[in-house]
Amino acid sequence: MKGEIEPDRYVVFGNHRDAWSLGAVDSVSGTVTLLEVTRVIGQMYKDGFRPRRSLMFCSWGAEEYGIIGSTEYVEEYVKVLGARVVSYLNIDAPVQGNYTIHVKASPMLFDIIVEASKMVLSAYDPPNQTIYDKWMKSHWNNITNKPKIRYGLGSTSDYYAFNQLVGSSNFDAAYQFNPADHGNIDMYPLYHTSYETFSMVKNFIDPDFTAHRTIAQFIGVLGLILCETNILPFNVMRYAIAFKQLLNKIEQNNIDFAILRNAINDFEKAANDFVTRSKPLNIENPYEIRAYNDQLLQLERAFLNPLGQGLDYPDYKHVIFVPAKTNQYSASGFPTISDAIVGGNQTEINQEIAIIVYFIRGALSTLKEFDKFMA
Ligand SMILES: [Zn+2]
Repeated sequence: MKGEIEPDRYVVFGNHRDAWSLGAVDSVSGTVTLLEVTRVIGQMYKDGFRPRRSLMFCSWGAEEYGIIGSTEYVEEYVKVLGARVVSYLNIDAPVQGNYTIHVKASPMLFDIIVEASKMVLSAYDPPNQTIYDKWMKSHWNNITNKPKIRYGLGSTSDYYAFNQLVGSSNFDAAYQFNPADHGNIDMYPLYHTSYETFSMVKNFIDPDFTAHRTIAQFIGVLGLILCETNILPFNVMRYAIAFKQLLNKIEQNNIDFAILRNAINDFEKAANDFVTRSKPLNIENPYEIRAYNDQLLQLERAFLNPLGQGLDYPDYKHVIFVPAKTNQYSASGFPTISDAIVGGNQTEINQEIAIIVYFIRGALSTLKEFDKFMA
């Protein structure tokens, strides 16, 4: 759906339509969610709505066979997508339960995801309770007083090529069951089996399909905010905070992290200055907004290392959040440093720290004023 003001900026929704077997949850719960978002925004369009940025609705094939469909699409159009995609919103198996939401995303999207969650009513809860209220009850961070969002996306769904090749700031979410009710298992037990059937969903997961409706509203609202807001609702400060948390996790006495700590401090200062500069932006001046938004788009892209993680893993290009060699399933922070620490070779550890410093310094230069990027 072509945008009216910024047609060359894309907000992308995507779901894979193939499945291991019958796939009522993975991926049919996502396919119907994508169709519902498409139906509603299509109706809005008939009623006169014209998006500011372009919206793309993608139905992928062959995800279960190695994420082939979305990866080949991204590889073929990587120059176009690398220049233009704002965010990729992944809808894989979004209804695995009916209790609360789980979210994985780029730190840049943290605040806007929380805002979107306040606009949608929770499924199977008393009236007026939003998914934010329920989320805070079940995944609350007692230090920040905010809900918990897992930073970074792994390598096991269609966000993969958008993270590693496009470099957009991406999102994935699912409605989950309450693990406390089910022996603290962390995955719905019928995952990828022949028992993923319509009757299983109807009888056990979402009897009146309100979790499906809720997740569609949540992802739809988030996509529309990303599409319609003049100044992109990305928060660069969240990366500064994330860096500090990641450093705390990997820091140990026998390794010198001083250059990394300095780079993170400089990043924080550049991010702070950048946010301050947004205050007097003239929103009547489209060029001013566009220039500022382009800086917001460039930041995440600045974390892509064209060489990836060397010869073994050349496709893992995002240097901050990507699976480590020692943990392939989910994304971890500074994976190349933690892999080197596991390896125990001091020279290699120093080398990996230096590479991360290079990328953080490269990224902070994209946030600076146009005539002062070297300062
Ligand atoms: Zn799937």
